Amino acid sequence: MLKPTRLLLLGAPGSGKGTISRKLLNRFPQLKSISSGDVLRSHILRGTKIGVEAEKCLKTGTLVPDSTMVSLISEQLRDLDGLSSKANWLLDGFPRTFSQAQKLTEILDKNQCNLNVVVELNVDQNIILHRIESRYVHLPSGRIYSLDYNPPKVPFKDDITGEDLVKREDDNAAVFKKRLDKYNEEIVPLREYYQKLGIWHEVAGITSDIIYPKVEKLLLT
Ligand code: AMP
Repeated sequence: MLKPTRLLLLGAPGSGKGTISRKLLNRFPQLKSISSGDVLRSHILRGTKIGVEAEKCLKTGTLVPDSTMVSLISEQLRDLDGLSSKANWLLDGFPRTFSQAQKLTEILDKNQCNLNVVVELNVDQNIILHRIESRYVHLPSGRIYSLDYNPPKVPFKDDITGEDLVKREDDNAAVFKKRLDKYNEEIVPLREYYQKLGIWHEVAGITSDIIYPKVEKLLLT
């Protein structure tokens, strides 16, 4: 594997970032992951001040303010010992705007632990829209299931804990379309930014089973 590996996964909501992250963590145990959506959902579950604010954004499919996200994720990176030149991690869902990306670079530069690979997952958005209807999640862990492709062993129960799976409130057609539109707007300057830094790669496919080996190969070359 690239040494050290500091990976950013970009991709539309529903493109499989969570599933790819999980597979990478299994394959490369030295990687630690931070999913900005999972961090926010954990704040919402715990009813923190950030959670109360974020809940409105998640419900309506709008973005949480950049300043909140930057302090939240830098705190997570610190907690994971992620701000050192030897750190290995992957980020999923952050940065999501050009301004977040610039701030992240500043923080990482100061600690000499910059990103070294950015992978954009390219999945046909008509397929994503169709698929999202069948997505269920175990909120405490972020484990994702699809009733079509990856059903739980017991219907609507998490395979590991047996706890209930829920449908994310923002996975309904109207809010999801809004999230997708926002993604399509924000990704353009982000993509350009990382292309200029020479660390951007694109991986295309219909399912995570097709996409995953390509991502793994990128990390091994
Ligand atoms: P996700 O689980 O990545 O699809 O994120 C779910 C929701 O959390 C998004 O629709 C946003 O409301 C919020 N969110 C997650 N990451 C970010 C971010 N980097 N910047 C702003 N809002 C975010």
